[in-house]
Amino acid sequence: MQTKITIVGAGAAGLFCAGLLGQKGYDVTVIDNGKKRGRKILMSGGGKCNFTNLSIEPSNYISDNPHFCKSALKRFTQWDFIQLVNQYYIAYHEKEHGQLFCDNSAQDIVDMLLKECQKGHVKFMMQTQVEDIDSDGQGFKLHTSQGMIDSDNLIIATGGLSMPALGMTSIGYKIAEKFAIPVVPVKAGLVPFTLHKPLLDVLSTLSGIAVPVEVSNERICFKENLLFTHRGLSGPAILQISSYWQAGSPITINLLPDLSFESSFKPLLAQNRNQTIKNCLAQILPKRLIEVLIQLKLINDVIVKQLDPKQQQNLYNTLTHWSITPNGTEGYRTAEVTLGGVSTDALSSKTMAVKTHSNLYFIGEVVDVSGWLGGYNFQWAWSSAFACAQAFN
Ligand SMILES: Cc1cc2nc3c(=O)[nH]c(=O)nc-3n(C[C@H](O)[C@H](O)[C@H](O)COP(=O)(O)OP(=O)(O)OC[C@H]3O[C@@H](n4cnc5c(N)ncnc54)[C@H](O)[C@@H]3O)c2cc1C
Repeated sequence: MQTKITIVGAGAAGLFCAGLLGQKGYDVTVIDNGKKRGRKILMSGGGKCNFTNLSIEPSNYISDNPHFCKSALKRFTQWDFIQLVNQYYIAYHEKEHGQLFCDNSAQDIVDMLLKECQKGHVKFMMQTQVEDIDSDGQGFKLHTSQGMIDSDNLIIATGGLSMPALGMTSIGYKIAEKFAIPVVPVKAGLVPFTLHKPLLDVLSTLSGIAVPVEVSNERICFKENLLFTHRGLSGPAILQISSYWQAGSPITINLLPDLSFESSFKPLLAQNRNQTIKNCLAQILPKRLIEVLIQLKLINDVIVKQLDPKQQQNLYNTLTHWSITPNGTEGYRTAEVTLGGVSTDALSSKTMAVKTHSNLYFIGEVVDVSGWLGGYNFQWAWSSAFACAQAFN
């Protein structure tokens, strides 16, 4: 009799793993609570799916064990996935920072994964909610909204909690706990910041303005765009640092990431000696932003020539070290990823198998491995799915 494998979650990791295992000849069934397969893929990257990145390093991932992701990322790389995309003649382009997006639509990636599943005669049970799981030591019994399902092997690919409107559930973590597998506390990552009311009242007037910045905290620094919104701060720089942010701590914003004091800022002041600070700085920053910095009393709108050398340096320091303490984040509603998850201590980094329960596997975002913005999370989904499929000969 064919070995039965059940995969819970028809997302990126579940679909890719299903295709690989089906093509190896296994009897694979994928269960998902949604109507559509690959729902998150379809809405990713603004509908164009940033499916990987030209530069994938373990340092682009956050985990309690930063070494865990290395083995899987090495055995199924971005080049392997790109090769598959090329086999299907899917047109794509590099946007920036090595990020690869579909030219046409994220649907191309879902169609590719579904064709791979078709080749492996993978079965699907959609609109089926997995509610609980039992094990008799040999196989598994899945309690679902469509009744009980037996399986020899179980692969959990239920993703994280971000975007609950897409049907995300905490079942993956519940299953882990049921099998005494530790779960690293979860929280929203790649998520916009909210601000305390007095600061929000002032900064929300900048809503829609984007500026290139370097944003840092004691752990990391990102050079990308910051976007002011009517709720707080967003844009790639903010999403990236949000994954490294602890509640109550400040972030530092450098509004002049490409301007050094000696070679750029001082000459700018020298050339505009008779101007107001506002008009002078308007040459390098949006005028409305400068007005807000003046309103916040971070800078004084005097005539440039009134500044002595020390005051010039102070002005530069203010613009390059703007410290803001966010009120919080927008949470799972808008987060792109869930930080934390099933502890990597409990899993084999080679196969994603649970060390203490043979035939049980966790792959994708449900695991405590979270990537940066830029295609890293999908690459983890592909790589961890591939590692898991390699466990079956
Ligand atoms: C708006 C948005 C845009 C994104 N854009 C990008 C991007 O461009 N590039 C990138 O790398 N990453 C992106 N991400 C992150 C990426 O989508 C995820 O990291 C990736 O989808 C994780 O894959 P997964 O297979 O682990 O989980 P998912 O793709 O989330 O799939 C999990 C599946 O499990 C199902 N499920 C959950 N609970 C149950 C249950 N109890 N019973 C049955 N089924 C269940 C869910 O319905 C879902 O279909 C984005 C995320 C969001 C929210």
